[in-house]
Order: sequence, then structure tokens, then C-alpha cells
Amino acid sequence: MTETLQMHFPDAVMYAMERLNAAGFRAAAVGGCVRDTLLGAQPHDFDLTTSALPEEMKKVFANDTLKETGIRLGTLTLVRDGMEVEITTFRTDGDYLDGRHPEGVRFTTELTEDLARRDFTVNAMAWEYGVGLRDPFNGLRDIESKLIRCVGNAARRFEEDALRMLRAVRFAARLGFSLEGSTARALEEKKERVAMLSRERICDEITGMLVSPFFLDAALNYGGVLLEALPELKPMKGCPQECIYHSWDVWEHSLRTVDLSPPDPVVRWAALLHDCGKPETHTRDADGVDHFYGHPAKGAMLADRICAALNMPSSWRSRIHMLVLRHDERFSPGDMLLLASRIGLDNARDLCLLHMADQGAHSPMVARRARWTNALLDELDRIERDGDCWNLEQLAVSGRDMLALGISGPAVGEMLHYLLEAVVRFHVPNDRDLLMQAAKAHYERMTTAFGPPGNGGGDGGGKNAP
Ligand code: ATP
Ligand code: MG
Repeated sequence: MTETLQMHFPDAVMYAMERLNAAGFRAAAVGGCVRDTLLGAQPHDFDLTTSALPEEMKKVFANDTLKETGIRLGTLTLVRDGMEVEITTFRTDGDYLDGRHPEGVRFTTELTEDLARRDFTVNAMAWEYGVGLRDPFNGLRDIESKLIRCVGNAARRFEEDALRMLRAVRFAARLGFSLEGSTARALEEKKERVAMLSRERICDEITGMLVSPFFLDAALNYGGVLLEALPELKPMKGCPQECIYHSWDVWEHSLRTVDLSPPDPVVRWAALLHDCGKPETHTRDADGVDHFYGHPAKGAMLADRICAALNMPSSWRSRIHMLVLRHDERFSPGDMLLLASRIGLDNARDLCLLHMADQGAHSPMVARRARWTNALLDELDRIERDGDCWNLEQLAVSGRDMLALGISGPAVGEMLHYLLEAVVRFHVPNDRDLLMQAAKAHYERMTTAFGPPGNGGGDGGGKNAP
């Protein structure tokens, strides 16, 4: 296979290699782009490695756009055809002191030395300009056997840099590969070390795992490292769910919920965390049946603490909190307009999808019922298609109309909410004349009963139902 191997790289990548080669240096595409090309997948970025030192690279690309992205580590970035190509001098890493970063790097003239510092055999292949595939650690064989194998001694490589353990599981989840025996054993032995990693890296890597197509297999086989990275979730493993509705413990049920969720990072995080409140609320009745009263609220609090500790963006945090808090509510299609008005149409859709995944990860009896949720999604689609009013912008009256009725201050917003509630909850038609009449009547009622706003009286109706 190696001899006949044809690799196609974008023009900008070929240009960079040609220029380096013409100037007497060696140049190779390396790492993820070689791996993905061999797998028949589209690489999302391209890294080159070269025998040229950074100063020499600058001369070679004197007439090109070059960014000094990591010159200390030997990396420059060529910008061409709207693409960024990272070019790094062949290097070896010095000793690792903090379980994550080498104390320094040493430039080398040997491509094999550069490949030896890389994490896994499938990531330690290069395609050298004028030579072809360079694969001293048999990455191609491991691609064919679908194996993630550390370059060198796995335990030592994980000890040097604990991030490699999360990367190993992420690549397994992404590619549908297994961890080779000694790599898997080293992961088990060294997994506690992931606690040393920064919360941001943990968040990025786990997000990458969660949205990967083979997440479930990877998490069932190597989930121990996930629990070390998120120790707050450890009580979920082995937390029983004895009842006719469940087939798995809380942890496995959660992993299966992730697997059945759409590959949106927020929904998948919510799926992982949706039942994290169960261990704390677990009770078993006299018939031996397990209950988890109040687990959504407890779980939402814990989930939010976890997300905050991982430094997630606040938009993710609030969506995850809402999804965990409401994951156990029961809805019918007729509730969808009101739900959309409360949390937004997209969030309502996410909540239904999470609900569906959650049900699907119960016992077969419940899973069969999950198909019901399709009716909820259909209704949300219909609402969108028909342009049904579910938010203030769609309401046939505006703040200006309220001012024209003599309503002012905070009472304007309150009146608009009152009218929206009338439309979404009580199916009052979204008609301008009708809503103006309703607003007028309500305002008159309130001012008669309590006096005009600001007189220490009524507040204009607030969010009370009509
Ligand atoms: P992705 O498609 O996720 O970007 P990738 O393999 O390109 O996958 P990068 O994080 O972009 O991963 O890293 C590029 C290359 O650098 C890897 O293929 C690997 O050879 C090497 N590498 C990255 N991180 C490490 C690490 N922690 N230890 C050793 N080598 C690493
Ligand atoms: Mg990459």
C-alpha cells in the first residue's frame, strides 16, 4: 500500500513544501493531516515540519505572508490562498516537569526524531516532499487495525503529558478505534494524572469526545479517565436504578443518552450531566424500587457548578442549566408554543431532543414510547413554518402602541408580556385591533382597581393570566 500511496494536499501546502525543498531543506506534511488523508477524511488543518530553522524559514518565505505564531518552539504560519499552514522545525522535546509541558525543545535535523515526540503512531506519520510516506512507528498498520497506540512506552508518555490520555480517548471516540493493549493498561494506571490538567483543556477534550461519532464505545471502554477528569460525576457510576423503566446504572444511562443526542456540544454536555443529581437524591422504597425525587433541580445546581469550574462560556452554562433542570418535565404538542415563549424555539427543540434521547436510553419499554417525542418536534417545526407568534417581536402590537394608550414605564413591558401570554397560553389571535382592545381593557381594569402605576398601586397587570 505504501508504495502506491498517493497523497493530495492543497496548493498552499504543496507550495510551502516546494519552496523549502528548492532552498535545500527537507519538508513534510505531518500529524493529523496525514492521518486523516489516509483515512479518506478531509483534514481540518495542515501542519508541516521542516529541517529549516525559523530564521531560515523567514528567508525562504521572505516574499510571502508569514506569522510568528510560536517562534520559540520553531513554529511559523504561512498564510496563502486564505489558508494558514503551520510550519515547525524538526524538534525533540526536553524533559517534562509539570506533567504537561516540556521544559524546552531542541531543534534537530532528523525527521524520525521529530516523529518520535508525537503522541500516537497514527499521529506520527509524515509525507515527505520528494520521498513519500515516512512511517517509522507503523502508524499505517495501526490505522488498518484501528488502534490508538502510544509512540514509545505508553506509561512514560502519559506521565510526561497527561493530556495525551484524554487525546487517546478523544481519537478513539472520533475514529472508532480501540486503545492498543499496553496503551489501555497505561491509561488505567495513570488516569488520576488528568486531574493536573487545566480545566479549559479538560473542557475542550471532553467536548471533542462528546460530539464524536463513536463516543459511546470509547466512554464504555475508557470512561474511567472521564470520571477522573470530572470527579464530581464519580457517584453516578454504580448508582443503581432498580425499576422497570431502567436497564442501566445512572452513569451508563447518561452515556447512552449522550449517544442518542444530536451532536451539538451543549445538548451533549446536558445529556452527560442531566442525571448528575441522582446519586444525592437516591432512595429505595420497601419494594426495592429506586426513586430520585427532586433530582433535576439538584442536578441543575451541580451541573452549573461543574460548567463554571470548567470555565465554559456563560451562554453554554445557562442552556445546560435549563436543559438539566427541565429534562424530566412531560409535554404534549399543545404545550410547545408556551414552552417556546418561555425558553425560545431553539431551546425548546433541544429540550425535546434531550428528552427523546433520555427516554431512548431507558429500558426498551420506555424507549418504545420515546417516538412520541417526534410529535413535539413536528409541532415546533410547524410553529416555525407557520410563523406562529411565540415572542415579543412577533406580537402584532409594540411598545409604541402601548405608549399611545397612555401606558408608560415598566408597565409597557409588563403589558406586552401579558398580551403575549394571552396569545401563547389562551390562544387569543395575534391581531392588532384585538390586542389593542385587550390592552386597553386590562389597563383600565388595573387602574380602576389599584390606581395608576406610580401611586403605590397596581403594576399594570404583570404576568398574570388574563
Ligand atoms: P485534530 O484533527 O484534532 O487537529 P491532530 O492530530 O492534528 O488532530 P493537533 O492537536 O492539531 O492534533 O496536533 C497536531 C499533531 O501534533 C498531532 O497529530 C501529534 O502528532 C502532535 N501532538 C499534538 N499534541 C500532542 C501531545 N500532547 N503530545 C505529543 N504530540 C502531540
Ligand atoms: Mg490538527
